[in-house]
Amino acid sequence: MSSSTLPPPKLVQGKEFDGADLHAAVIRGSGHRYKYNQQLSNDTSDRPGQSRFIVGSFTCTRCSRTRSHTWHSGVICTEIFFTLDDRYRTILHAQQCRRCQAYVKPEVDEDNYVKKIVSALDLWSGRRERLESTGDFKETDPHDEERCHGCQIGVCKRQRRTAW
Ligand SMILES: [Zn+2]
Ligand SMILES: [Zn+2]
Repeated sequence: MSSSTLPPPKLVQGKEFDGADLHAAVIRGSGHRYKYNQQLSNDTSDRPGQSRFIVGSFTCTRCSRTRSHTWHSGVICTEIFFTLDDRYRTILHAQQCRRCQAYVKPEVDEDNYVKKIVSALDLWSGRRERLESTGDFKETDPHDEERCHGCQIGVCKRQRRTAW
């Protein structure tokens, strides 16, 4: 595949976040078998329409000067784009603060992120078989779809299990 000179597809500022910063954690967790490619989008992915839910938290510092507002989520919507030459890209989606409605950047749990992203990439690249079910899916608080940017634009698909 020839390298493209196009700029990366534009993200919606403050609501969508490129996962490039987390690639170092993916390397630590899985070695160098996957490369990050900021050019990828749903249009160029060999597995379009894929997303995973990552555990993490959000902290809104806007609505209070004295006391910030933090909430935890097991459903941080993360799109994954993948090409069969072992390149990938992720986009993490903001959630809105309940108090002031500001969009807040997610802080993902790195171990959980690496586990879920590498698991998906290993499946799509044929490095592992699809599992039936790990049975380790934990129900968390109901997903607040109105405040999830991924839901607002229709890329956040709630899965019943995280087995694959
Ligand atoms: Zn707020
Ligand atoms: Zn959502």
